[in-house]
Amino acid sequence: MGDGRTGKDGDRRLGRRALIVGGAAAAVGTAALARDELSHLWWRLPGVEKPRVEGAVDFRGARWVAASPANLRRADRPDDYVIDRVIIHVTQGGYRSAVRAFQNAGHGAAAHYIVRRDGGVTQMIRELDVAFHAGNRAYNERSVGIEHEGFVEDASSFTDAMYEASARLTAAICGRYGMAVDREHVIGHVQVPGTDHTDPGPHWDWGRYMGLVRRARTARA
Ligand SMILES: [Zn+2]
Repeated sequence: MGDGRTGKDGDRRLGRRALIVGGAAAAVGTAALARDELSHLWWRLPGVEKPRVEGAVDFRGARWVAASPANLRRADRPDDYVIDRVIIHVTQGGYRSAVRAFQNAGHGAAAHYIVRRDGGVTQMIRELDVAFHAGNRAYNERSVGIEHEGFVEDASSFTDAMYEASARLTAAICGRYGMAVDREHVIGHVQVPGTDHTDPGPHWDWGRYMGLVRRARTARA
Protein backbone atom coordinates (compact mmCIF):
# COMPACT_ATOMS: atom_id res chain seq x y z
CA MET A 1 0.00 0.00 0.00
CA GLY A 2 1.21 3.49 -0.76
CA ASP A 3 2.72 5.41 2.08
CA GLY A 4 0.52 8.33 1.08
CA ARG A 5 -2.61 6.22 1.38
CA THR A 6 -2.36 4.84 4.86
CA GLY A 7 -4.41 6.01 7.79
CA LYS A 8 -7.69 5.06 9.35
CA ASP A 9 -9.84 5.23 6.22
CA GLY A 10 -7.31 3.28 4.22
CA ASP A 11 -7.11 0.58 6.85
CA ARG A 12 -10.89 0.22 7.02
CA ARG A 13 -11.08 -0.02 3.27
CA LEU A 14 -8.33 -2.63 3.15
CA GLY A 15 -10.09 -4.66 5.82
CA ARG A 16 -13.41 -4.67 4.00
CA ARG A 17 -11.84 -5.51 0.66
CA ALA A 18 -9.66 -8.22 2.15
CA LEU A 19 -12.86 -9.85 3.43
CA ILE A 20 -14.44 -9.69 -0.02
CA VAL A 21 -11.38 -11.23 -1.62
CA GLY A 22 -11.24 -13.90 1.08
CA GLY A 23 -14.87 -14.86 0.41
CA ALA A 24 -14.36 -14.98 -3.34
CA ALA A 25 -11.27 -17.12 -2.99
CA ALA A 26 -13.10 -19.58 -0.73
CA ALA A 27 -16.04 -19.75 -3.16
CA VAL A 28 -13.87 -20.87 -6.05
CA GLY A 29 -12.08 -23.27 -3.79
CA THR A 30 -8.59 -21.93 -4.30
CA ALA A 31 -7.46 -22.64 -0.78
CA ALA A 32 -3.93 -22.98 -2.03
CA LEU A 33 -3.89 -19.40 -3.31
CA ALA A 34 -0.71 -17.95 -1.97
CA ARG A 35 -0.97 -15.39 0.78
CA ASP A 36 1.17 -13.04 -1.30
CA GLU A 37 -1.30 -13.24 -4.19
CA LEU A 38 -4.27 -12.61 -1.91
CA SER A 39 -2.59 -9.56 -0.49
CA HIS A 40 -2.61 -7.78 -3.84
CA LEU A 41 -5.87 -9.04 -5.37
CA TRP A 42 -7.93 -6.42 -3.57
CA TRP A 43 -6.37 -3.72 -5.74
CA ARG A 44 -8.01 -5.28 -8.77
CA LEU A 45 -11.58 -4.90 -7.56
CA PRO A 46 -13.29 -2.02 -9.36
CA GLY A 47 -15.46 0.70 -7.94
CA VAL A 48 -13.52 1.97 -4.96
CA GLU A 49 -12.21 5.46 -5.43
CA LYS A 50 -8.85 5.80 -3.80
CA PRO A 51 -8.22 8.93 -1.78
CA ARG A 52 -5.94 11.67 -3.06
CA VAL A 53 -4.23 13.98 -0.66
CA GLU A 54 -2.49 17.10 -1.93
CA GLY A 55 1.26 16.55 -1.82
CA ALA A 56 1.02 12.86 -0.90
CA VAL A 57 3.66 10.50 -2.25
CA ASP A 58 3.62 6.77 -2.92
CA PHE A 59 7.20 6.18 -1.74
CA ARG A 60 8.24 7.05 1.80
CA GLY A 61 10.79 9.83 1.84
CA ALA A 62 10.12 11.03 -1.71
CA ARG A 63 9.84 14.77 -2.24
CA TRP A 64 6.70 15.85 -4.09
CA VAL A 65 6.99 18.28 -7.01
CA ALA A 66 3.93 18.21 -9.29
CA ALA A 67 4.40 17.66 -13.00
CA SER A 68 2.29 19.63 -15.45
CA PRO A 69 -1.12 17.94 -15.84
CA ALA A 70 -0.46 18.07 -19.59
CA ASN A 71 2.21 15.39 -19.17
CA LEU A 72 -0.05 12.77 -17.62
CA ARG A 73 -3.51 11.29 -17.77
CA ARG A 74 -5.51 11.09 -14.58
CA ALA A 75 -6.47 7.50 -13.85
CA ASP A 76 -7.33 5.14 -11.02
CA ARG A 77 -4.66 2.52 -11.34
CA PRO A 78 -4.38 -0.33 -10.65
CA ASP A 79 -8.20 -0.66 -10.82
CA ASP A 80 -8.54 0.67 -14.37
CA TYR A 81 -5.15 -0.53 -15.62
CA VAL A 82 -3.06 -3.34 -14.18
CA ILE A 83 0.44 -2.17 -13.28
CA ASP A 84 2.96 -4.85 -14.25
CA ARG A 85 6.06 -3.00 -15.40
CA VAL A 86 8.68 -0.66 -13.96
CA ILE A 87 10.48 1.25 -16.72
CA ILE A 88 14.00 2.55 -16.09
CA HIS A 89 15.07 5.79 -17.80
CA VAL A 90 18.06 8.13 -17.87
CA THR A 91 17.32 11.86 -18.21
CA GLN A 92 20.21 12.91 -20.50
CA GLY A 93 20.65 15.94 -18.29
CA GLY A 94 20.71 17.11 -14.71
CA TYR A 95 18.03 16.84 -12.06
CA ARG A 96 16.88 20.46 -12.26
CA SER A 97 16.42 20.40 -16.01
CA ALA A 98 14.39 17.19 -15.73
CA VAL A 99 12.10 18.75 -13.11
CA ARG A 100 11.66 21.85 -15.27
CA ALA A 101 10.87 19.74 -18.34
CA PHE A 102 8.22 17.71 -16.48
CA GLN A 103 6.66 20.93 -15.13
CA ASN A 104 6.49 22.32 -18.66
CA ALA A 105 3.10 21.71 -20.31
CA GLY A 106 4.74 21.87 -23.72
CA HIS A 107 7.22 19.09 -22.97
CA GLY A 108 4.70 16.31 -23.59
CA ALA A 109 6.44 13.81 -21.34
CA ALA A 110 7.15 13.10 -17.68
CA ALA A 111 7.90 10.15 -15.43
CA HIS A 112 6.48 9.31 -12.01
CA TYR A 113 9.86 9.58 -10.29
CA ILE A 114 13.32 11.11 -10.68
CA VAL A 115 16.24 9.62 -8.75
CA ARG A 116 19.21 11.95 -8.24
CA ARG A 117 22.92 11.17 -8.13
CA ASP A 118 22.83 11.67 -4.34
CA GLY A 119 20.00 9.15 -3.96
CA GLY A 120 17.26 11.72 -3.43
CA VAL A 121 13.90 10.65 -4.86
CA THR A 122 11.38 13.13 -6.26
CA GLN A 123 7.87 12.05 -7.18
CA MET A 124 6.12 14.19 -9.80
CA ILE A 125 3.13 12.01 -10.77
CA ARG A 126 1.08 9.70 -8.55
CA GLU A 127 1.21 6.01 -9.38
CA LEU A 128 -2.59 6.19 -9.74
CA ASP A 129 -2.06 8.24 -12.88
CA VAL A 130 -0.68 7.41 -16.32
CA ALA A 131 2.59 9.26 -16.94
CA PHE A 132 3.73 9.93 -20.50
CA HIS A 133 7.22 8.44 -20.33
CA ALA A 134 7.41 5.29 -22.46
CA GLY A 135 6.36 6.70 -25.85
CA ASN A 136 3.84 3.83 -26.09
CA ARG A 137 0.29 4.19 -24.83
CA ALA A 138 -0.16 0.62 -23.56
CA TYR A 139 3.21 0.70 -21.80
CA ASN A 140 2.42 4.05 -20.21
CA GLU A 141 -0.84 2.61 -18.89
CA ARG A 142 0.78 -0.51 -17.42
CA SER A 143 3.94 0.96 -15.93
CA VAL A 144 5.60 3.18 -13.38
CA GLY A 145 8.42 5.25 -14.88
CA ILE A 146 11.62 6.06 -13.00
CA GLU A 147 14.08 8.61 -14.39
CA HIS A 148 17.70 8.72 -13.29
CA GLU A 149 19.72 11.91 -13.41
CA GLY A 150 22.66 11.68 -15.81
CA PHE A 151 23.74 10.56 -19.25
CA VAL A 152 23.49 7.20 -21.00
CA GLU A 153 27.06 7.51 -22.32
CA ASP A 154 28.59 8.52 -18.95
CA ALA A 155 29.15 5.57 -16.58
CA SER A 156 29.92 7.96 -13.70
CA SER A 157 26.30 9.16 -13.76
CA PHE A 158 25.21 6.05 -11.92
CA THR A 159 26.32 6.36 -8.32
CA ASP A 160 26.03 3.86 -5.45
CA ALA A 161 23.49 6.12 -3.76
CA MET A 162 21.42 6.28 -6.95
CA TYR A 163 21.39 2.49 -7.46
CA GLU A 164 20.45 1.87 -3.85
CA ALA A 165 17.64 4.45 -3.70
CA SER A 166 16.24 3.41 -7.07
CA ALA A 167 16.35 -0.27 -6.06
CA ARG A 168 14.37 0.45 -2.88
CA LEU A 169 11.82 2.36 -4.95
CA THR A 170 11.47 -0.42 -7.53
CA ALA A 171 11.21 -3.05 -4.77
CA ALA A 172 8.37 -1.08 -3.16
CA ILE A 173 6.54 -0.79 -6.50
CA CYS A 174 6.96 -4.53 -7.21
CA GLY A 175 5.61 -5.33 -3.77
CA ARG A 176 2.67 -2.93 -4.06
CA TYR A 177 1.39 -4.45 -7.32
CA GLY A 178 2.51 -8.06 -6.88
CA MET A 179 5.14 -7.92 -9.61
CA ALA A 180 7.92 -10.49 -9.78
CA VAL A 181 11.38 -8.96 -9.41
CA ASP A 182 12.80 -9.98 -12.76
CA ARG A 183 13.82 -8.50 -16.09
CA GLU A 184 10.45 -9.26 -17.63
CA HIS A 185 8.80 -6.82 -15.22
CA VAL A 186 11.64 -4.35 -14.59
CA ILE A 187 12.71 -3.13 -18.00
CA GLY A 188 14.65 -0.35 -19.68
CA HIS A 189 13.01 2.25 -21.91
CA VAL A 190 15.01 0.63 -24.73
CA GLN A 191 12.85 -2.51 -24.34
CA VAL A 192 9.54 -0.73 -24.95
CA PRO A 193 8.11 -1.84 -28.30
CA GLY A 194 8.52 0.77 -31.01
CA THR A 195 10.83 3.06 -29.08
CA ASP A 196 13.89 4.73 -30.56
CA HIS A 197 15.26 5.50 -27.08
CA THR A 198 18.34 3.65 -25.85
CA ASP A 199 18.17 4.41 -22.12
CA PRO A 200 19.34 3.35 -19.64
CA GLY A 201 22.20 2.30 -21.96
CA PRO A 202 25.27 0.05 -21.68
CA HIS A 203 26.66 1.57 -18.46
CA TRP A 204 23.56 0.75 -16.43
CA ASP A 205 24.55 -2.34 -14.42
CA TRP A 206 21.44 -4.53 -14.59
CA GLY A 207 23.00 -7.41 -12.66
CA ARG A 208 23.89 -5.18 -9.77
CA TYR A 209 20.59 -3.30 -9.90
CA MET A 210 18.38 -6.39 -9.89
CA GLY A 211 20.41 -7.84 -7.01
CA LEU A 212 19.77 -4.67 -5.00
CA VAL A 213 16.06 -4.74 -5.89
CA ARG A 214 15.77 -8.38 -4.78
CA ARG A 215 17.56 -7.61 -1.53
CA ALA A 216 15.32 -4.61 -0.85
CA ARG A 217 12.22 -6.65 -1.70
CA THR A 218 13.23 -9.40 0.73
CA ALA A 219 13.96 -6.85 3.43
CA ARG A 220 10.50 -5.29 2.99
CA ALA A 221 8.73 -8.66 3.01
ZN1 LIG B 1 13.55 7.06 -21.38
